[in-house]
Amino acid sequence: MATKRKSDDSTASSASKKPAPFWKNGLKTSMEDPELVVYKDDKITVIKDKYPKARNCVYIYIQAKYHFLVMPKENIPNLKSLTGSHIDLLKYMQRKGKEQADSADETLQFRLGYHAVPSMSHLHLHVISQDFDSLSLKTKKHWNSFTTDYFVDSEEIIDQLEEDGKVSLNTATFQELLKKNLKCHVCKKDFSTMPALKTHIKQHNYRRK
Ligand code: AMP
Ligand code: ZN
Repeated sequence: MATKRKSDDSTASSASKKPAPFWKNGLKTSMEDPELVVYKDDKITVIKDKYPKARNCVYIYIQAKYHFLVMPKENIPNLKSLTGSHIDLLKYMQRKGKEQADSADETLQFRLGYHAVPSMSHLHLHVISQDFDSLSLKTKKHWNSFTTDYFVDSEEIIDQLEEDGKVSLNTATFQELLKKNLKCHVCKKDFSTMPALKTHIKQHNYRRK
């Protein structure tokens, strides 16, 4: 029977000792896909997330919603592979991510950060607008991965590297965050279903102050 695995399940457990399945390397393939690449230089590639948790399209009269991934050219599998020697690269990725957000919509709120336990191989910085208006954002795991401490701000990762020369995240505790009750990221109201939460979040204003 074929293995049922969707590569947009961005919160898979990393506890398994089995060889990495093929879909884990999908980002490296997407770094070469002209349909997805929005910026490229000698250090980094920026792509549109293939299963955006905010929308990458512009609709007339509707706010634009965006989800990009900034990735280094250098082969860096994940946060644990980082050392002090990567600080300048991470700062560059953050700067380019901010530029990408501004060029998409400089009035919309964005967050730039990493999933504590990523599902995909190759280091990737999420640049995501805070409307979360997307058909691909379907599950409690998706929601909690972007709206709880499971989503670690880029600045925090850079601070850790500057202080300790490495990134120390206790991955076991992060899995618990994905099971938390649904909560609006703006007003903190609780919800029992994703459809109710997604209807609710449309009422908030995601413009920068
Ligand atoms: P994570 O590894 O949990 O930090 O998130 C991986 C992100 O990559 C998710 O937001 C997915 O929607 C996205 N994604 C998964 N597969 C691909 C792919 N082949 N190309 C581009 N983006 C992808
Ligand atoms: Zn709310």
